[in-house]
Amino acid sequence: MTATAHRDAGRPDPAARPVGAGRVDAMPGGGLAALLLEGLPPGTVDLAVGTPAYPDTPPGLVEAAVAALRRGVHQYQDPAGLLALRERIAAALPGAPDPVGEITVTVGGSEGLAVALLSLVDPGDEVVVFEPFYENFLSAVALTGARPRPVRLRESDWGVDPEELAAAFGPRTRAVIVNSPANPTGAVLDRATLDLLAELCGRWNATVVSDEVYAGYVYESAGYRSVAEVEGLADRSVVVGSLSKSHSVSGWRLGFLRAAPALTALLRKVHVATTGGAAAALQHAAADADLLLPDRWDHAAGMRERRDRTVALLRDAGFALTRPAGGCYVLARIDGLTDEPSPRFVRTLLAETGVLVAPGTSFFLDPADGERYVRVAFNRPLHTLDTAAERLRARSPQKGVTQ
Ligand code: PMP
Repeated sequence: MTATAHRDAGRPDPAARPVGAGRVDAMPGGGLAALLLEGLPPGTVDLAVGTPAYPDTPPGLVEAAVAALRRGVHQYQDPAGLLALRERIAAALPGAPDPVGEITVTVGGSEGLAVALLSLVDPGDEVVVFEPFYENFLSAVALTGARPRPVRLRESDWGVDPEELAAAFGPRTRAVIVNSPANPTGAVLDRATLDLLAELCGRWNATVVSDEVYAGYVYESAGYRSVAEVEGLADRSVVVGSLSKSHSVSGWRLGFLRAAPALTALLRKVHVATTGGAAAALQHAAADADLLLPDRWDHAAGMRERRDRTVALLRDAGFALTRPAGGCYVLARIDGLTDEPSPRFVRTLLAETGVLVAPGTSFFLDPADGERYVRVAFNRPLHTLDTAAERLRARSPQKGVTQ
């Protein structure tokens, strides 16, 4: 036997090996992608995608971006992010984080999520996720080679059962992903759940990755608490933020991570390896326009009005739902309207009314669990919601249901 043959004995045949890495197989496919690729009929009222059509992109932000490019901001800068922008972000967050050691600017919340998971979790670990969840949580877990451990939320209020949450933690738990206000349910985590998370993460030495990209959109008086404010979680949490929805610049890809200095040092290593930093001129624009504090830019009231209209129009049309306490989505049940599973119903509804909603299947580990739900986005102009209301009202609520 030659030395090479000896070394390769017992290894799988390279020619039989798939080209793609195994972790990619564990990444979900995208519920709406096929429909969007086929193209939508002209005049479609799209309430499916999360892309914001409300609020309008702030003109001052656009002017600041143009000005930054014209004055020659074109080259690499500190990968952790422009300090002036980190200072603005820190000033807008509760508990006065240190912009130097605790804030990192990322390429959207999506990079933030992936970086957080890659920094915290090893292959074979478990990551607790609340189900239904934002699809990218599964993708971010898959990137690490860890396993998702879903905890199903109660449908009555999309809250979590404390016993089920406690039962999901164990020696393999390395992280838990939470999202408040949530996509797709609109639920806002209550104090008791946050305190329980602190206790469980302390007991099992796990870290909370808290997606707070919808923090600016909270509609109930109980208000909103970041995990960074919860006793016991300040050093055990990574907060993911984004300007995509708050400032209607989803294509600018500006997000951030907030974490204690020791954790931030880990995050920045992965951040440098993945993207090396977000677009310099756009960071300058966000710093210069100075629109991160709520007294400069706050559309929670406008979004609450849209939430209320959307809840009313969906109930009028025969959907059943829990009113979202925050965010920009409603997850609605379709039982009263159809026997069809949601991917098929979405096509039927589009053909009959020209209104597009998202099938619920991509928000569950087993897509079959989402067949009775659709997600409706309400970050839209009022006239869009009014058109949707008229079209849905014109459709008989009982159409399609087998009696
Ligand atoms: N988290 C949640 C819950 C989201 O809904 C989204 C966008 N749909 C993101 C993160 C990612 O946002 P971005 O990368 O544009 O900041």
